[in-house]
Amino acid sequence: MILHYKCPGCGSDMSFDTESGNLNCHSCGRLETIENYPEDLVTTRFSADEANEYHCENCGAELITTAETAATSCSYCGAAVVIADRVSGLLAPAKVIPFTISKEEAMAAFQKWCRKGLLTPKDFMTADRIKSITGMYVPFWLFDLNSKVQVSAECTKVRTYSQGDYIYTETKYYDAFRDINLDYLKIPVDASVKMNDELMDKLEPYPYDQLKDFRTPYLAGYIAEKYNFTDDELLPRAKEKISGYVESYIKSTFTGYHSTHYKSKNIDTRNVKSHYVLLPVWMISYDYKNSGYTFAMNGQTGKVVGKPPISTGKITAWFSGIAVGTFFALKCVSFMMGGGFW
Ligand SMILES: [Zn+2]
Ligand SMILES: [Zn+2]
Repeated sequence: MILHYKCPGCGSDMSFDTESGNLNCHSCGRLETIENYPEDLVTTRFSADEANEYHCENCGAELITTAETAATSCSYCGAAVVIADRVSGLLAPAKVIPFTISKEEAMAAFQKWCRKGLLTPKDFMTADRIKSITGMYVPFWLFDLNSKVQVSAECTKVRTYSQGDYIYTETKYYDAFRDINLDYLKIPVDASVKMNDELMDKLEPYPYDQLKDFRTPYLAGYIAEKYNFTDDELLPRAKEKISGYVESYIKSTFTGYHSTHYKSKNIDTRNVKSHYVLLPVWMISYDYKNSGYTFAMNGQTGKVVGKPPISTGKITAWFSGIAVGTFFALKCVSFMMGGGFW
């Protein structure tokens, strides 16, 4: 089933307007709020046939879709269409972050980035090499994870002092135990097989205060895809994304020692809750020396990623690591005089 968004005033096709956050009619200029737009007849009918052909209800042209396409535009008449079967039932996103960066703004950012010459050599980055520019809603799972951590370690504190003719080294040994409960909220993992994971990671963070309840009109005028991977399939990647934070949190609880030797470390991370969401990305593909490159931009914040990163990027504040009830058991078990030196 194909959804079209018709202007209640003049009957033309409407599409999402980044500036107002409404549906906009390009013919008469009418704006309709997403909430008030008569929400369509979204059905939960599924088409098992992946080679299903969809046709534009305006002009009858066949819509160019893949098995993943959830929203696109008619390549003949330009009408924005949403394939309802692919955003309903099990495929219904819980939330969406709407675009706030328009196509013009994305183009301008690309040109500015070209001028800065971030990708050498200087001459090549001109915007006329653009092959395509696409506003795309990329499917993501947002994971709420909980890690229960138990660590026991042997730690030392060393002190050197002199007394008379002797220099003493005193080493205190501590048996330390940590019982830590960590919650990580909304860890994003992209669920599209064709999106470069590192590229997507680089576009973070997404401002979650902009998450809206999903409604199909948000997709009008963009490409949207349904997920390829379930949350179960992506859980290992979500765990991997937080593992560095878990480790550094553990480390941060052992301060003030000269050495820390972990005797045992048990980390149990579970998926508390996962939400299926669509996040906005501008993709610009361009050619240079017979190779294709991708410029990507966060459609909400305008953050730019020029090319697939080589090193894993520094992932910033997309998670909130909350240490709940951190419990330190600290016991001094032995005291020992080191050998004297002279
Ligand atoms: Zn109109
Ligand atoms: Zn059409």
